Amino acid sequence: MLSLFKKTHAARKTYSDCSGCSLCLLVCPVWRQRRDVSLTPHGHAKAMQHGLSAADAAASAGHCTLCMACEPVCPENIDIIGMILELRRQLGAPTWLHDLQAGINKGAARPVTSAPSSSNILLPDQTLYAYPDTLARITSLLEISLSDDDGSDISLALESGAAISKQRLERFLAPLGQLKKIIVADGLLLRHMKQWLPNANIIGLGEALSGHAGVRRGLRATDLYVIEPRAYHSNYQHLVKHYDRLRAAHGCTFNLDLQRIAIPATAHNLPQRLGLAASSDDGQTHWVLHGRSITRIVVESMEERAVLEKVSGFPVVHLADLADDGRDTC
Ligand code: SF4
Ligand code: SF4
Repeated sequence: MLSLFKKTHAARKTYSDCSGCSLCLLVCPVWRQRRDVSLTPHGHAKAMQHGLSAADAAASAGHCTLCMACEPVCPENIDIIGMILELRRQLGAPTWLHDLQAGINKGAARPVTSAPSSSNILLPDQTLYAYPDTLARITSLLEISLSDDDGSDISLALESGAAISKQRLERFLAPLGQLKKIIVADGLLLRHMKQWLPNANIIGLGEALSGHAGVRRGLRATDLYVIEPRAYHSNYQHLVKHYDRLRAAHGCTFNLDLQRIAIPATAHNLPQRLGLAASSDDGQTHWVLHGRSITRIVVESMEERAVLEKVSGFPVVHLADLADDGRDTC
């Protein structure tokens, strides 16, 4: 039987194991912005250890951007993201999500999708649909088809705390199990799909594109390459080597810090990304750009492009738009 959350909780520690070392603060964009320890995993864990209820923790759980940067630095291997998602699930979807909840329910009522027509498919994130030329370029470069069912309602439900029915999840996953390769643009969905389909070949869009020889030829030593942190932290131990090879071959710099943790370039939580709350200030973006000698920024995720363009003054291009006409992969 499929379980949304039990698998990670069984394998990882919980907030009761937090030692209060504060390492998670060093990478957390919410801490950098607010300097309020109660909004960080450290503060969250300590409050839970002293009896904070789920309702009391609502503000803290809501501020998290789910960038996932805190998990690899936690020496206690606490399932921080799983616990935040579980807390949001207990609290239920907030009222401002009602319209989106209707969209989620619509997704749940979709007819059973036919089996994908290709053995390699792409599950885009919602932002990519707003850039049809880039999306078309991605499918052409990677020689993949778009999936009829992109799982966006499931990703939104995971992030917001809305309910996902077992039937909807099974209907989403059933056609995917036999595919040769599944490329996922949404890092939160990627993380969960790796747990739900442990034997499938599932990779993030950034990894797929940066493995394409034509894309790699377009990289310059003066580029800042902005890794999408959620996808990166979904497979951190593998991807740290992937990006180190890329850096050695092309000389570009990355949004990596500490023990090569992918630092988020923006600090927006779900309501801010959806335009339902005021945007955060750009302090996180300035920090990521500080002291760099670069001429261009390359992004894996279109979500970060607008903020980086506004704040940096440098041209910002999507990874797919670097590719020359070659169709070879490495
Ligand atoms: S996921 Fe990101 S925003 Fe949330 S607590 Fe961890 S580092 Fe902070
Ligand atoms: S890094 Fe882990 S153990 Fe340290 S304060 Fe944060 S949650 Fe607690």
